[in-house]
Amino acid sequence: MMGYADTRQVGTGLRQRIYCRAFIIGSLSDPSERIAYLVLDAQSGDTAIRHGILQGLARLGDEYQVYNKNSLSVIGTHSHSGPGAWLNYLLPQITSKGFSRDSYQAIVDGAVLALQRAHASLTPGHLSYGETTTTGINLNRSPYAYLANPQHERDLYPDDVDKEMTVLKFERASDGMPLGLLSWFPVHGTSLYQNNTLIAGDNKGVAAYLLEEYMKGRNPDFVAGFSQSNVGDTSPNTLGAYCEDTGLECRFNDSTCGGRTQLCRGRGPKFRNLDQGTGSCFEIGRRQFAAARDVLESDHLERIPVSTVSSFHVFANMSAYSFVSPFNQTQILSTCSAALGHGFAGGTTDGPGAFDFKQGTNDSDDSPSLRNPVWKAARGFIHEPSDEQIVCQRPKPILLDVGDAHSPYAWTPNVIDIQLMRVGDLIMIVSPGEATTMAGRRWRKALAAAAPSILDVHNPKIVLGGPANTYAHYIATEEEYRVQRYEGASTLYGPHTLAAYLNLTLTYLPYLGSRQEIKHLHPMPSGPSPPINVNISYSFINPVLVDHPGFFRNFGDVLSSPDPSTPYSANGSSVVRSRFVAANPRNNFRLEETFAAVEKYDPDAGKWRQVRTDRDWFLVYKWDRTSTTLGTSEVTIEWEIEPWTEPGMYRMRYYGDAKSITGKITAFEGASGIFTVSKPDRQPDFGDELVKA
Ligand SMILES: [Zn+2]
Repeated sequence: MMGYADTRQVGTGLRQRIYCRAFIIGSLSDPSERIAYLVLDAQSGDTAIRHGILQGLARLGDEYQVYNKNSLSVIGTHSHSGPGAWLNYLLPQITSKGFSRDSYQAIVDGAVLALQRAHASLTPGHLSYGETTTTGINLNRSPYAYLANPQHERDLYPDDVDKEMTVLKFERASDGMPLGLLSWFPVHGTSLYQNNTLIAGDNKGVAAYLLEEYMKGRNPDFVAGFSQSNVGDTSPNTLGAYCEDTGLECRFNDSTCGGRTQLCRGRGPKFRNLDQGTGSCFEIGRRQFAAARDVLESDHLERIPVSTVSSFHVFANMSAYSFVSPFNQTQILSTCSAALGHGFAGGTTDGPGAFDFKQGTNDSDDSPSLRNPVWKAARGFIHEPSDEQIVCQRPKPILLDVGDAHSPYAWTPNVIDIQLMRVGDLIMIVSPGEATTMAGRRWRKALAAAAPSILDVHNPKIVLGGPANTYAHYIATEEEYRVQRYEGASTLYGPHTLAAYLNLTLTYLPYLGSRQEIKHLHPMPSGPSPPINVNISYSFINPVLVDHPGFFRNFGDVLSSPDPSTPYSANGSSVVRSRFVAANPRNNFRLEETFAAVEKYDPDAGKWRQVRTDRDWFLVYKWDRTSTTLGTSEVTIEWEIEPWTEPGMYRMRYYGDAKSITGKITAFEGASGIFTVSKPDRQPDFGDELVKA
């Protein structure tokens, strides 16, 4: 899986299928004035993924050429429980045993399909803008670093994280039907802990699911995009971080317990459930859903008038970029080639470092990292930093000099994406790194100050979406950088990383003007091209060899079913389970389909109808390998019966695909026995506000 960079976090099923949600804004008559904002249920945007999407769009013909390098952005929700092995650069591939073409292609294909659907459903509409202040969704996980920012600057803000959620509402012009919502709010997708092995969109996946369910009655095709924002130092573990051994708070300045990071863990609102963070994840997602819904339904929304829609994109090489400081015009600053500091290996209170990359550099070490085949193959290529690089990155002590490591192929990006998008007064910063709270504020503030004179916008509203387009780790302020906690240690291009991003976006800001305004500007430079490593990446991921049902059994056979004699109450805490003879889910991801379903009997029609799929948070698909030698496996489908479930007769269905010894893949299915669900016998903990409209 991808997010925590933990080799031991290997997927065993699906709590919630993940999605790409595409939003197109612009002119119907003039396709050159369009932008496409893709929200991907994944750890981040990525160079290879974005490249693959652009290639896919190019194959769709002329009509799709308006969604190009300049106008398309790919923003990750930063879920830490998504699949892995799809990223372009070597470093984030290490803990997923390299690159998987299947994993990569599924994401690219899903994103292209999402964009095709958005394009096919283009319709005249209105956009409205709204904001709300949230409580209990995020906190700062590195307050010690935040406190390094100047007092006078901190005094401008009530909190050490941004609590505002910004919302764009999409409505159909003809009848005001709500079409979708795009929101920005910073909170790490780390509600599900590092010991969770079920794929999910984390808290933003929950928020999107709940809002789409809630809006179903008004528009079954409603699309809810919960974009990540200046997520860097935020955490969804809102109760703070505590030591697992003593139960005391972790040490303030370095989040350690007795000198070690491994025991310090952030606690979400339902941490007592001991459920790998599942309850907390739902709760943090529910709070984001509720905030977005309240803005959506409020009458304080501001209509965005018909106006300029524009965007630009340029690649920039950050390895030694010299520029005038945006904070002090008399200073010339420079960035450095990418490097990670020692604080990177320590991890954070959301996920303590499990993988000390610097260990196991020779075979006499008995390091656990040597069990990782990619690390074993790549460690010989570790780049030793030059004296110049050491000075440039100061005070960061360099753990991995990744920017200049080009063998066996590039480890991290030195070439990053600079992109802005604009809809009237609204400007979207598309950030490749995880900007910290204060870094995001400075960036937005700088653009808000410059936009009125450069773009003739009177009341600029600036939002930041990221990590997007590539994964460039973190963007801390210079003051936070000096502290070298995880976020500073992961700020790749040295102390002036943020200043460089500001400088580059300010430099190209005039290109967000109307077509008339930009006519006299020099054409945008195309910039250097980043490497695409899809075809040269390592892969130590074993293929599926064969599936076997086991003796005297068939694929899809039911091994156990819920008790048919007692009705299950829809009180929010009844769980029913079925178990089946299974095959490896990697044989077919069942894109646009499902691995698991709940069916309800319709007595009037005399038919079974599908009422839940693996898209649903409360329907869980768990796969167990029972024998690697024989190739046997079993699947458990688990349904936590929601309070809004209608009473009636139900059964569960499993869909699988088995691989024969000749390599042929054959679909099969199985259905559980019948069971009944009754009305709740007590008031459920949650549900009233979630009951579908
Ligand atoms: Zn992060």
